[in-house]
Amino acid sequence: MTMIDIEEEEIGGVAPLDRPESASSVSIDSVESMNGDIPIALEAEELQLALNKEATEEELLKAIMRCKNLVLETDECSLERKWIVRHLIELRLRLQECREAATDPEHPRNKSSGVSKRTIKGHHFILQPLLRSTTSRYCDHCTSTIWCLVQAWYECQDCSYSCHYKCMSSVLRECAHVVTSERGAFEMEICPEVGLSAQRYKCAECKAHLELNKGYNDPKRCDYNGLYYCSGCHWNSLAIIPARVVHNWDFTPKPVCQATLQQLKVASNRPIINLESLNPKLFNFVHELNLLGRLRNDLYGMRKYLLVCRIANEDHLLWKEIDVPHLLETTNMYSLQDLVDVHSGEIFIKIQTWIDTFTKHIKVDCEICKGRGHICEVCSNDQPLYPFESNAVTCEDCHGVFHKNCFNRKNNCPKCIRLKERDNHMKDINCVDDDDE
Ligand SMILES: [Zn+2]
Ligand SMILES: [Zn+2]
Ligand SMILES: [Zn+2]
Ligand SMILES: [Zn+2]
Ligand SMILES: [Zn+2]
Ligand SMILES: [Zn+2]
Repeated sequence: MTMIDIEEEEIGGVAPLDRPESASSVSIDSVESMNGDIPIALEAEELQLALNKEATEEELLKAIMRCKNLVLETDECSLERKWIVRHLIELRLRLQECREAATDPEHPRNKSSGVSKRTIKGHHFILQPLLRSTTSRYCDHCTSTIWCLVQAWYECQDCSYSCHYKCMSSVLRECAHVVTSERGAFEMEICPEVGLSAQRYKCAECKAHLELNKGYNDPKRCDYNGLYYCSGCHWNSLAIIPARVVHNWDFTPKPVCQATLQQLKVASNRPIINLESLNPKLFNFVHELNLLGRLRNDLYGMRKYLLVCRIANEDHLLWKEIDVPHLLETTNMYSLQDLVDVHSGEIFIKIQTWIDTFTKHIKVDCEICKGRGHICEVCSNDQPLYPFESNAVTCEDCHGVFHKNCFNRKNNCPKCIRLKERDNHMKDINCVDDDDE
């Protein structure tokens, strides 16, 4: 775990890099995640470090010496010393990278032959630019800090798995994008635990031996899949669990392993939850879902109009506003994010805007769509009626559209009766014709 030999007493008790949540990382983290102004004494040095990517081992050794002297000149516990310590760490990491690059032709520091892209375990890793990062980043493989300014590191463009260059070849975790695409659905059983013995007391991901009651490396359960993990694979991250939402309408975030966290992130916008088949009763309990169902039906009806309207198509009306196309293309599939947005109420603001825009097009602005309205056969009111309107009803047999009130007053569909009468009439005529022959 100790990547560089920082002489602790010399730089004010900074511990070696360690896992995100462990106690020993606190001091290094406070150094690593420092934001704000760099002391003037260091500005020139920082700049040099960022720009001079080609620094030789000799130059780096000299810079480290300079930095060590700077440490001695500053007050203990001062902000300035913290910055210099951080700078010293970065210099040493750069020195380490420089030495590694000298023996490894594929190292990204070797510009002509270095690897900028690589596919491993389904991940599409892209070499990241060396930049001062404002947030702390941890390697998904070794769990220690990624010093983005000096260490070569990669990120998967599909699932955001990030790791050091040196960790890339030993990555164990399958790309979350591949896993969720192959699976095609969320786990819908709430925390389906099999127990530690069934796991042979091994971490479900890295297979490390799990010890009981040892504190630091205690097995951690992932609330999504019920499996146990070591603290390298489970960082106590919290996530909303799809099965708890669908069965209990419970949005409380629960602790999950890192693999699950990435899978849920990748899949959260995919319309893969068929709520009606998974839990039809939920619609009775959650008023908002009922409302959303009605609005989606309205939208679906409007979509039929817009799809066949030349003007709406030329205007790209359906697609220019919609960032969640499945809400329009289906009426029963939901993404996890949709349900979160129902819970927060956000989805209704969005959907109402779409409905207003589409209604205006169909009923006010567009002559083509206006001409496709129906006239209620019961009351013969000349105001066109549209099947997606809340006061309209469509006969399932003849697809005639009527006012709900008008339709309910009659026992049978007036259009169906009329069509039937016409059919009988035609039959009579045919019979008469037959008799004549
Ligand atoms: Zn690493
Ligand atoms: Zn990936
Ligand atoms: Zn593990
Ligand atoms: Zn139109
Ligand atoms: Zn009517
Ligand atoms: Zn009918």
